[in-house]
Amino acid sequence: MSSFDLSRRVALVTGANTGIGQAIAVALAQAGANVAAAGRTPAEETRAKVEALGRRCVLLDADLSSTQPVAGVVEKTVSQLGSIDILINNAGIIRRADAVDFTEADWDAVIDTNLKTTFFLCQAAGREMIARYAETGRRGKIVNIASLLSFQGGIRVPSYTASKSGVAGLTKLLANEWAAKGVNVNAIAPGYIATNNTAALQADETRNRQILERIPEGRWGAPEDIGGAAVFLASRAADYVQGHVLAVDGGWLAR
Ligand code: NAP
Repeated sequence: MSSFDLSRRVALVTGANTGIGQAIAVALAQAGANVAAAGRTPAEETRAKVEALGRRCVLLDADLSSTQPVAGVVEKTVSQLGSIDILINNAGIIRRADAVDFTEADWDAVIDTNLKTTFFLCQAAGREMIARYAETGRRGKIVNIASLLSFQGGIRVPSYTASKSGVAGLTKLLANEWAAKGVNVNAIAPGYIATNNTAALQADETRNRQILERIPEGRWGAPEDIGGAAVFLASRAADYVQGHVLAVDGGWLAR
């Protein structure tokens, strides 16, 4: 199992206070990584879980709706934990309205957080990782959190679909530029996972039934279902995996 071992690795996880981000932070810590948790809500619960596993966890205050905190978050990860080996771009939002009524504010908010900040975090972390690879030969790992709407159109979520389709494209572009420079860039496309992000869908009886009917596994995913894929893509076991968008969806896309 040593190729999956993340001991002495440092992971920066955005939006790690809850949901998928928290589950990924804990899974990386279980595999041996120390964690920097960046977000606008302090990830105290995540820190307790990571520290209970014997790993270090630092909390970085960052509102990622703009690129303003990007450089500082990467610098603090390196200065407080010694390096940045893994970046998990997880923080994201969704806004729902019919396309004919969709506002510019809802367009900008989702694109800025889900796509623009994601790119500039990749850039800031990628610069560190490329320089470190040239010195030490240790590869960096970037995992962006995409969506089923990186593959499909969805409905009533135009800026979300645009942002997550953009994340998939960006993942491939960065893999093309950085694969030979010591950085693996991949993405995970979670299926329907029970978190705050999907609370409205879970509460809507008709949509909930329709969703469950289409998932071959017949259940909503749990945030913990995403952890194994994140550990794999962050590890040496995935050194030759580049520009891939890995669906973890209970079979949704197979239908
Ligand atoms: P969630 O529970 O709503 O978590 C979203 C995370 O992003 C929270 O930590 C949130 O912080 C953080 N965040 C949002 N805006 C931020 C900002 N401006 N600055 C800093 N942090 C910010 O939802 P989730 O389902 O775990 O979502 C995590 C990722 O998975 C998102 O990118 C989402 O699009 C993606 N995803 C989810 C599903 C699903 O079915 N749940 C499916 C596909 C993809 P706060 O707690 O402070 O808001």
